[in-house]
Amino acid sequence: MDDTNHPGRQSWVTSANRPDTEFPVQNLPFGVFRGAGGPSIGVAIGNQILDLRACANLLEPLPAGILEACGATTLNPLMVLGRECWQALRTRLSDLLWADHPQAAAHQRALESHLVAMADATMFKPAEIGGYTDFYASIDHARNVGSFFRPEMPLLPNYRYVPIGYNGRASSVVLSGEPVRRPVGQVLSSPGSEPQFAPSRRLDYEIEVGFFVGTGNPLGEAVAIDRAGAHLFGVCLLNDWSARDLQAWEYQPLGPFLAKSFATTISPWVVTMGALAPFRVAARARPAEDPPPLPYLDSEPDQQEGAIDMTLEVHLRSLRMREAQMKAIRLSRTNLRTLYWTPAQLLTHHTSNGCNLEPGDLLGSGTVSGPASENRGCLLELTQNGREPVMLPAGETRSFLEDGDEIILRGYCERPGFARIGLGECSGTIQSGRA
Ligand code: MN
Repeated sequence: MDDTNHPGRQSWVTSANRPDTEFPVQNLPFGVFRGAGGPSIGVAIGNQILDLRACANLLEPLPAGILEACGATTLNPLMVLGRECWQALRTRLSDLLWADHPQAAAHQRALESHLVAMADATMFKPAEIGGYTDFYASIDHARNVGSFFRPEMPLLPNYRYVPIGYNGRASSVVLSGEPVRRPVGQVLSSPGSEPQFAPSRRLDYEIEVGFFVGTGNPLGEAVAIDRAGAHLFGVCLLNDWSARDLQAWEYQPLGPFLAKSFATTISPWVVTMGALAPFRVAARARPAEDPPPLPYLDSEPDQQEGAIDMTLEVHLRSLRMREAQMKAIRLSRTNLRTLYWTPAQLLTHHTSNGCNLEPGDLLGSGTVSGPASENRGCLLELTQNGREPVMLPAGETRSFLEDGDEIILRGYCERPGFARIGLGECSGTIQSGRA
């Protein structure tokens, strides 16, 4: 932690000082938005976006490499530079936006014209995502899902040893707000029947967090667990849309494929690891009967403060609710700290065979569920595999998603004595499928 996390800091951008803001001066997440001259890197502050390209001259005396990266149209050139540069930029931005800086009046005069109202801004994907991997790091999710398919052995014996994951599809990662078309695929109308090619009838969301890789690693060179944290640039919200009927039919023996690859939605703002520093907590305690992590995944500092205390929420608004001008209802609330594996363990495991990660690669946490029933991170769990539908306020029920349903993910971190920071929203609305 450093001065940028200090809870007493306020900004001359007054909307950043409101108690309900997600973007106080302690947050400073990066995104890409349509600036005056096309896509531009921006920093969220209150209800405004500071255009970094437009004000690059004011970022001096930062090294030229950082200034150049701030003029790019994706975050990748900034991600390449590494943690010291990210931190130097964060410190400079915090000083420039700080209300009590000795030169605050001059900063405000110089920067005010480079602020854009967030409500008017068009956002783009924050990074060029070369690779997307989705993990399965929530033991509560793994146990809940496993209990539907293997009641006698919900958790497979490898779970407590291996951070389970699969190689996902990067090309279909879309930004919050883009509609999601219901996928069409091979579905069975009843167990043992012949498959039909039809729109999915068991469409689901999964609430996850996406970790953006900053600096990569050369092919053949694993990242040691104590160095893994330095490779992580930041986090976003991630919805891993899943067609459960396609998934059930196709997943054996090679795992998820078309049930997942039709769309993955991410939120536009990348909250940096620097902003998350006050919210690092001990990894979830392993019960005494569980094996310790193998040595390559085991690190005292990572066990002490490798997890992140972040509340995550899922909200749903159906078409009928929208037409009746009803607000979205919260379906569940969970916390990232309940994961069985830390972000560093996921990154280290990913590279442990020599696989190279690259700047902009996205690592999904896997559905974040928790021990309580209100912590279930997808409809499959929440409705007990469709058997116990959720009641909606307009008199509807949901086992799985219907056309017109909007799913909104939210995430925030709070801790007494520190400024609350948020991740913004990650939303997507289901469109009908075309057979
Ligand atoms: Mn997933």
